[in-house]
Amino acid sequence: MTMTAKSTICAETLQRFEKYVIPNYGRYPVALVRGAGSEVWDDQGNRYLDFFPGWGCNLLGHCPAPVVDAVQQQLGQLIHAPNTWYLEAQGRWAQLLSERSFGGQAFFCNSGAEANEAAIKLARLHTSPGRYKTITFTGGFHGRTFAAVTATAQPKYHEDIGPLLPGFNYVPFGDLGEVESKIDDETAAILVEPIQGEGGICLPPDGFLQGLRDLADAHGLLLIFDEVQSGCGRTGKWFAHQHFGVEPDIMTLAKSLCGGVAGGAMVARREVASSLRPGMHAATFGGNPLAARAGIATIEMIESLELLDRATELGESFRKQLAPVVEELAVAVELRVCGLMIGLELTVEAAPLVQDCIDHGLLINCTQGNIIRLLPAMTLTDQQLEEGCEILKAALRESKD
Ligand SMILES: *Cc1c(COP(=O)(O)O)cnc(C)c1O
Repeated sequence: MTMTAKSTICAETLQRFEKYVIPNYGRYPVALVRGAGSEVWDDQGNRYLDFFPGWGCNLLGHCPAPVVDAVQQQLGQLIHAPNTWYLEAQGRWAQLLSERSFGGQAFFCNSGAEANEAAIKLARLHTSPGRYKTITFTGGFHGRTFAAVTATAQPKYHEDIGPLLPGFNYVPFGDLGEVESKIDDETAAILVEPIQGEGGICLPPDGFLQGLRDLADAHGLLLIFDEVQSGCGRTGKWFAHQHFGVEPDIMTLAKSLCGGVAGGAMVARREVASSLRPGMHAATFGGNPLAARAGIATIEMIESLELLDRATELGESFRKQLAPVVEELAVAVELRVCGLMIGLELTVEAAPLVQDCIDHGLLINCTQGNIIRLLPAMTLTDQQLEEGCEILKAALRESKD
């Protein structure tokens, strides 16, 4: 371990935020200014190791060279052009995504919430008339726009913003019997994260996703996988559902889709996709030249450096590092790993531990109050992994049961 970072921040920045920025985020008193791979620096010159780069968006680490190059080149050619014209890169990007998933066609947007909005709308269009309901799962997370937040079955995100969008039924994650009991003549779709991220890196019970597929087929419903967090190589396969041998009708992507540049997509089976008739949906910036070039560069970088295999390998290294902690320490109760989605459930509040790690130069996240969540980059080095895990383990040993 090399340094101990101090969580200080330029006072002027703090004052500006207090005066001019809406305080809807809880922020740590750190202002990041520069990043490279799994390292970032703040405005005081402190260096941090980043096990949660870009809230899951920077799966290739900070400023991956092929993405930087592609975007820089595109910036000088064409920054934006609307979807009234053909963009060569958007077509190529769609093909790359289609060929790596279940075939089908792509609609491009700018975020995960938007991708889920499109999916929910498409499901209603495809199954109309008469069907409009979507079944979602407790602990899920689908974004903050009204359909997406209604789909998000976590009461804390619904407080005081009602009425929510009609037509959503919530079921405990993993409970097929409950899903079946909620299906009626008006059910259009089942929307689920194959691996719940925000919910605490929750892996689906054996047979759960296949069971959803079977129910969807039996009742003529669409199965939608939200792979905004789990997709694009995060788990060591292109898409998390490929671990379970179950294909959706619609899949939503964002976060790491463009190597850290903003971008989202919905991929739908061709027969379903055609229900999104011309004029029924749009996103002004969707599939723009910068996002498309970044998206293509992301896929090409993952393939040329064989980073899917590396993600699997790194996941196993994290497991080796952290599994003993669950044996040793009473505060750590369960470790859940799928590639580079890593959750460590504690018996105590995790926030002080996150702060302790920041103080020692490691950025991590906690979710659901007591679950340490790591979404590291595929380009993490073995040495960085070891360095960060030492900091994390030291913090865990300090934290009291
Ligand atoms: C982050 C996330 C979203 C929302 O994405 P935004 O880009 O913030 O709108 C949706 N679904 C899942 C699974 C996510 O992790």
